[in-house]
Amino acid sequence: MDSCTTPGLMPIDDALANMLKSIAPINATTNKPLADSIGYVLAQDLHSPINVPPFDNSAMDGYAVRIDDLTETTTLTIAGKSFAGIPFQGQWPIGSCIRIMTGAKIPQGCDAVIMQEQVSVKADDADFSQALPLRDQQNIRSLGEDIKQSNLVLPKGHRLTPRDIPMIATLGIPTLTVLNKPKVAFFSTGDELKPLGTELKEGEIYDSNRYGIKIMLEKFGCEAIDLGVITDDKEQLRQAFIRGQQQADVVITSGGVSVGEADYTKIILEELGQIGFWKIAMKPGKPFAFGKLIATDNTSDAIFCGLPGNPVSAILTLYILVQPLLAKLAGHSDWKPQPIIPAKALTPFNKFPGRTDFQRGIYSINEDGQFEVSSTGNQSSGAFRSMSIANCFIILERERGKVEVGETVHIQQFAPVFYS
Ligand code: AMP
Ligand code: MG
Repeated sequence: MDSCTTPGLMPIDDALANMLKSIAPINATTNKPLADSIGYVLAQDLHSPINVPPFDNSAMDGYAVRIDDLTETTTLTIAGKSFAGIPFQGQWPIGSCIRIMTGAKIPQGCDAVIMQEQVSVKADDADFSQALPLRDQQNIRSLGEDIKQSNLVLPKGHRLTPRDIPMIATLGIPTLTVLNKPKVAFFSTGDELKPLGTELKEGEIYDSNRYGIKIMLEKFGCEAIDLGVITDDKEQLRQAFIRGQQQADVVITSGGVSVGEADYTKIILEELGQIGFWKIAMKPGKPFAFGKLIATDNTSDAIFCGLPGNPVSAILTLYILVQPLLAKLAGHSDWKPQPIIPAKALTPFNKFPGRTDFQRGIYSINEDGQFEVSSTGNQSSGAFRSMSIANCFIILERERGKVEVGETVHIQQFAPVFYS
């Protein structure tokens, strides 16, 4: 048995359920110009104020006709022009057609547009014999065919993506009411942690977790407040927890939650709030703390998440356990984890029963369209290169043992937050 396999580990789903039930979404809103609204969550259902397109218009450069005019003849006189933004005005006599451009308003009575490549024009006459027969409404984009006035276009709780922005712009909406982003204060703990750009003395390492935590919080749609590195000093830690609680909705730390160390963290947190130190049945990421920091002044209570210090564990628990919590807090109700996909193991995977493993892997799709996956190698919770070169987690079920080549495993592709 793995030395870390101990009874009483909390299953991941129980930890998630415990965390989610203790928080309510933010309800404070703000107005954002459309162009700055990316990553925010809609505070209200968004209904379209207009039809899109707002008028029948041409899908082609060509000629607008009445189909009936082409029953006796294949040639019509060009009676005028309709350009995008400059519609044809007036009447067009029976037996005539209108030159029309893509996006131009369809003249009254027109029931088909013929693309110009199918038309031969001599002086003022257009011959349509190449284009017959015609289909009613061909090449006409009708009023409201994309979006009908007053229809729901995006629901409350939707987090705005780059694909939503141009769609909302077609509705002419300049400003959106969005939920405020959750404020998340974070700091690293540890006497051994040194800033980048300094020289390491014996026993020291660079503080890498804060860099990962900051960028991921921003990707999750939070406002990240960096409180730096706090040494393993009781008073410094207490002050940092209080600063975090006063400034933020959530306080996240890394380090100091393993068994038998950083006693200060535990003592201070018990003084400042209600904190549970959990042992989660996941690997890496067993030590995890969750609770609440209680306000003693006129500020608000803050949620507390204590990530393990090992770099892979810190980012993994942030991604698997804290991300759903932040999504709920942000009001992002259409947030979903990445799907779990079966894949064929191309390498063996070491595994002891007892915890759900999140090994780092590289998947590809073979010529039969099947997913295949290899290990990234060293799976130590301190070996962050395994995250950097991976493109998925290999999720090995809690009671599973060693995996041999050719067995089916389950993978979870990295979400876009891990990519750009
Ligand atoms: P701890 O949870 O404080 O016992 O830390 C576990 C391991 O993670 C130790 O090897 C720490 O040095 C390392 N560690 C803790 N915090 C960080 C950090 N911010 N960046 C990189 N490594 C860290
Ligand atoms: Mg430490």
